[in-house]
Amino acid sequence: MRSLTLGRSGLLVTEIGFGVLTIGPAQLNLPLAEGAAVLRYALDRGIHFLDTAQYYRTYPYICQALKGFSAPEKLVIVSKSLTHDGAAMTAAIEEARRELDRDVIEVFLLHEVRHDGDFEYRQAAWEALQEAKIKGLVKAVGVSTHHVDVAEQMAERSDVDVLFPLINHRSIGIRRASEPGTKEDMAAAIEKAAAGGIGVFAMKVLGGGVILNEYQEAISYARALPGVCSIMLGFGNTAEVDRIFELVEGSLTPDYQPDLSGKHLQVDQGDCEGCGLCVQRCPNHALFYNENGLAEVNPDLCMTCGYCAPVCPVRAIVIIG
Ligand code: SF4
Ligand code: SF4
Repeated sequence: MRSLTLGRSGLLVTEIGFGVLTIGPAQLNLPLAEGAAVLRYALDRGIHFLDTAQYYRTYPYICQALKGFSAPEKLVIVSKSLTHDGAAMTAAIEEARRELDRDVIEVFLLHEVRHDGDFEYRQAAWEALQEAKIKGLVKAVGVSTHHVDVAEQMAERSDVDVLFPLINHRSIGIRRASEPGTKEDMAAAIEKAAAGGIGVFAMKVLGGGVILNEYQEAISYARALPGVCSIMLGFGNTAEVDRIFELVEGSLTPDYQPDLSGKHLQVDQGDCEGCGLCVQRCPNHALFYNENGLAEVNPDLCMTCGYCAPVCPVRAIVIIG
């Protein structure tokens, strides 16, 4: 597994990262020992770049996986917070340091900056990130986003170290303001950001599972994008980790396709109270009210990203598979 320098941050990251969301409560909800074992397997095989977030609730898996790990100095952990508030961002960094049992979190982001104007709205949180960097609590700061317009905005800034954008070869989930965006526009924004020294790693290259049937094509597209250092992938078991190594090493059989045919999102109609929080939360407009006034998912639009599940006050949303 090759490592590349993540732009001006100078951090060395493996060309494939482990998106820890997949094993945690918002997606597969693996038992702690089982999820940590999958993660540890990937770490031992040489994937040393991990993506998590405050609201994924996956810090315990990482902490458990790192017990006795032989190369902690090679690890680059990304975490992020949805907050706009300065004190809340400082608290989010402290929470990550405490729960991950690490003095320094290598990368900390504003999580899911939504459109032009959201970055400005979250200025206090951004300043808290800059302050944490000056204090040495984090090494690099930036944003994650599904929005082309945000990626373009970040590409102009000298205080952004890293950018974590959504891109895939079918343009699934890419946004421009409140409209769909294109992979071409996002690729151009990525290239511009990288040319300006920003380290870029990509998310949802498999469209959140929607284009798993195009596994090799989708991953090859993202890995070849100019300016992309690494791609984050979710792994639910050790066999999936083995397959990505085979792909990177060129030995994966050309007709390989992961069997995730059963993966889907479900709203338990017996539990749903029709509050609408999930409908507002979904970036892909995949949730709607049915004739009973309860939430239901449109499987053609759902990327199984899991973003809606944590906002449900009655835990009516589950991802199966
Ligand atoms: S319904 Fe929307 S937020 Fe929920 S998993 Fe699907 S795409 Fe993500
Ligand atoms: S957040 Fe939960 S209770 Fe509210 S509409 Fe969505 S599924 Fe139903």
